[in-house]
Amino acid sequence: MKVRKLFFLIFLLTLVACSKDNNATAASAGTSSVPAANTESSNPPPDNSPPPTFNANRAMQYVREIVAFGPRPIGSENHKKVENYILAHLKGVDVEQDSFDVHPSEGTFPVRNIIAKFPGTRDGIIVIASHYDTNWPLRNTSYIGANDGASSSALLLEIANQLPGKKLQGYSVWLLWDDAEESMKLPWDDPESLYGVRHLADKWQSDGILKKIKAFILEDMIGDADLNIEHDLSSTPWLEDLIFNAATRLGVQSHFFARSMAVTDDHQPFIQRGVPSADLIDFDYGYNDVFHHTTDDTIDKLSPKSLEIVGTVTLETLRLLNQR
Ligand SMILES: [Zn+2]
Repeated sequence: MKVRKLFFLIFLLTLVACSKDNNATAASAGTSSVPAANTESSNPPPDNSPPPTFNANRAMQYVREIVAFGPRPIGSENHKKVENYILAHLKGVDVEQDSFDVHPSEGTFPVRNIIAKFPGTRDGIIVIASHYDTNWPLRNTSYIGANDGASSSALLLEIANQLPGKKLQGYSVWLLWDDAEESMKLPWDDPESLYGVRHLADKWQSDGILKKIKAFILEDMIGDADLNIEHDLSSTPWLEDLIFNAATRLGVQSHFFARSMAVTDDHQPFIQRGVPSADLIDFDYGYNDVFHHTTDDTIDKLSPKSLEIVGTVTLETLRLLNQR
């Protein structure tokens, strides 16, 4: 992860109150007339699609396997091991590796974004992303980033299992394991962080990919057993609404958007370039976020149920995006 805009929080006390009122109004309007998932259309067809499937126990096993490598900061042997682990999972998939060096004040480090491409029948791309590095400043501790880095990377591995080997009916889906998200300094330092996505956003702007991206969905810190996905004020409002609709369809909306804040994370360079983007992040990891970026970020704090909730909501959002 990233940083939340704390200076914003006091101001937000008012906004949160307002948005809760608005949500209450919207919810009561929704239940009195049409199902919430259909509020975007004035005359919606019935939507009886079954909920998406997601193997949460298998995803949890991937988390175990990733944290078993130990700390995975850029430039380390363990980092190479997790790269190879992700690549081994993607045999038979069209994979692009975006490799380059970065030069923070701490030295020169190799960085690699891994992009798995699942082609669709429709023109346009939906990107689902997670960083896979752990904090360089914590490299000599037992910090393993079970929630921060491993949970979301494992989620993407399981989503890859759920995407069929044949062409997708709808937009192409690109799964992105991006690198060097974590700040080289703690607390967070904007110039020395988000290296992978900043490089990729520039590249995709140059080669024309960027304008084909219909949505950029970021997963980060989504494994906490006490799951509370934030309403991120930096994210694109209509995409946040769509995610909430997906969660509501699946009956898991109580885990979403109880709190509003502006988050700086891997979606930032895409938002800045006008790509519709959303960050699924739980910024309340332990009381007052006490496990975050500490050696307490361990697998015992996580739950397969949380991986299932976020995994299915992501897949349902994908389906709703293809209906737009
Ligand atoms: Zn982090």
